Amino acid sequence: MTAPSTADALARPAAARDLCTDCGISRSNDPGRCGRACQFIKPDYAKLEAQVHGRARDPLKADETFFGPHQQIYRAALAKPLPDAQWTGITTRIAERLLETGAVDAVLTMTADPNDRWRPVPVLVTKAADLAACRGMRMGYAPLLALLEPARAAGHTRLAVIGIPCQIYALRALEAELGFEKLYVIGTPCSDNTTTENFHGFLKLLSAQPDSIRYLEFRADYHVELRFDDGRQQTIPFLQLPISKLPRDFFPLTCRTCVDYTNVLADITVGYMGGEGEQWLLVRNDRGAELLALLGDEVRLSAPGSRGKRAGPVKGFLANTERAAGGLPLRRMPEWLKPIVGWLMPRVGPRGLEFARARVEMKAVETVIHLRREQPRRMKSMIPKHVWRLVDAYGLKPGEGETNQHGSPAEPKVG
Ligand SMILES: Cc1cc2nc3c(=O)[nH]c(=O)nc-3n(C[C@H](O)[C@H](O)[C@H](O)COP(=O)(O)OP(=O)(O)OC[C@H]3O[C@@H](n4cnc5c(N)ncnc54)[C@H](O)[C@@H]3O)c2cc1C
Ligand code: SF4
Ligand code: SF4
Repeated sequence: MTAPSTADALARPAAARDLCTDCGISRSNDPGRCGRACQFIKPDYAKLEAQVHGRARDPLKADETFFGPHQQIYRAALAKPLPDAQWTGITTRIAERLLETGAVDAVLTMTADPNDRWRPVPVLVTKAADLAACRGMRMGYAPLLALLEPARAAGHTRLAVIGIPCQIYALRALEAELGFEKLYVIGTPCSDNTTTENFHGFLKLLSAQPDSIRYLEFRADYHVELRFDDGRQQTIPFLQLPISKLPRDFFPLTCRTCVDYTNVLADITVGYMGGEGEQWLLVRNDRGAELLALLGDEVRLSAPGSRGKRAGPVKGFLANTERAAGGLPLRRMPEWLKPIVGWLMPRVGPRGLEFARARVEMKAVETVIHLRREQPRRMKSMIPKHVWRLVDAYGLKPGEGETNQHGSPAEPKVG
């Protein structure tokens, strides 16, 4: 079968599946590959980690159970932050350097829909200058991997891909058969994604001028930051967010049960969670080290910090998730207490790596509770062993038929 053009690839219909984030494989010439490529069908993280990094995560290195295999973790920032970047722009700057140095022919990533700045649209970029238009976060899903076939058809044999974890899982699962001479993978963490339509509903709850919001981030200091077209900035403490006004199906089951927060199959993960107000890098293998080296002294690196204790917040999250999954209203805090707790959280709550560990554990807790309630038969194929290790400390254990990968008693508990 001949490869479709970029426009044709994106115009193909996606397969209708209940757990699918439309990564693009179902729109390719061989949609049957979803069965072995999909994070939501029968993932095998240990196998792919070994294939990509030369080894699976090491259970004796406690942080690898949380964040996946890595060589180094850094707190980081570009010395000159790039305009319109989500943080300082490390992600797109690495990709620019790959094009500038001729290491790749093209970069596969997302740009914004010309009619909706929040809607992601896959794009193949061949000129470094064109990556400026791709900076920033958009909310929603778009079929990134549908452009792999057009990329090969255009003669690109050395490719860089920027993607979120469910896209990178499928890319890695099929990497050997895609036939690229060189593949660089820059991943970002991802959590709590939803459809672009749903996200517009959330913006309407946040502001009387939702269309003028050009930037939104859930910061690691427990505040959401908004930036408006007229240059105004606003921060809202998490506790004051109108979460209880969101419809019950605001977050799709895919994103409530996704087991890869930190993009463990990327060569380098560029996020912010463990960065205490700066960015957070996980260099996972030699190719990731090569990518970071491309930035030279454009990037400032330091050791990540870690403060506070996550157990209390994770237990509170578990209790609330169980209530919400059971159809009960969230336990609400009295209005008068919210500003006090909102003031205290950034000061006494987990920070740095402890914050990142807390978020990964919360995601693991969410996965178990929501799958158990909504798709129990999928638990044994979808939940990897390391996720059970993460939730064990909170009293969640696999029940009968929920796992076929029981943890070895020789493995230490994470603490
Ligand atoms: C839905 C979502 C949730 C996220 N949640 C977290 C989180 O909880 N913790 C955390 O540490 N980081 C999270 N991130 C990543 C974070 O927002 C930043 O993208 C990351 O820190 C890189 O910042 P930067 O300045 O280096 O990126 P930039 O240089 O601005 O580049 C951002 C890159 O991300 C791509 N991108 C933007 N939106 C999407 C999308 N919807 N799908 C696929 N690719 C996209 C862009 O095309 C661009 O290549 C999330 C990203 C997304 C898309
Ligand atoms: S591999 Fe991609 S397109 Fe196929 S079912 Fe999974 S998320 Fe959907
Ligand atoms: S939360 Fe997980 S499933 Fe949802 S878009 Fe992000 S990586 Fe994909």
